[in-house]
Amino acid sequence: MSYQHQYVDGTRIHFPLGKVVCIGRNYAEHAKELDNPIPSEPLLFIKPGSCVVPLEGGFKIPTDRGSVHYEAEIAVLLGKSLSSHASEEEVLDAISGYAPALDLTLRDVQAKLKEKGLPWELAKSFDGACVLPPFVSAAAFDDVTDIPVRLTVNGEVRQDGNSAMMLNPIVPVIQYMARHFSLQAGDVILTGTPAGVGPFNVGDELVLELPGASRFESRVL
Ligand code: ZN
Repeated sequence: MSYQHQYVDGTRIHFPLGKVVCIGRNYAEHAKELDNPIPSEPLLFIKPGSCVVPLEGGFKIPTDRGSVHYEAEIAVLLGKSLSSHASEEEVLDAISGYAPALDLTLRDVQAKLKEKGLPWELAKSFDGACVLPPFVSAAAFDDVTDIPVRLTVNGEVRQDGNSAMMLNPIVPVIQYMARHFSLQAGDVILTGTPAGVGPFNVGDELVLELPGASRFESRVL
């Protein structure tokens, strides 16, 4: 199924899907669980728009390349482009909405790439590697430094984080990204995953939510 940005009330968002800019190791407990050092500067990578699929109705995972890990993350949708010297106010003004997203990762493939010091695209950019539900308008969020995110798999809470726990908070990390490359309307920012990542299996039932703002049920097909 092809993906199109939309709000939870079903309103379509007119700007096209762009790229997905991601931050790795943005929660200390998650860096620790994978035995990774905490980076001194934000660790960024980009998923192409082609890997985005909708959450609704279920999504497929690769079954021929080792384990596929879920990473539940707060996704930020940009509705305006940002200049390289965007202020905090300009970043906040450019944010159209928030959603809980899945940054799917071929963990065995990534481990091999990391060992060799190679880039992560084979592990992070496969078709279906970014799963997005509809967004809740940014106007509904008073405090961007206090947004919870939670993933429940087969009735068990696996990840339960909050933007308050981020090493690089949402607004400054978007300013950092904008200093390095263009950010445009339709781009999505994935803000890193809290602790609790693990493998998905075909048939898993999940609930992905920004508690208090949006809640979605889905399954691994
Ligand atoms: Zn991630």
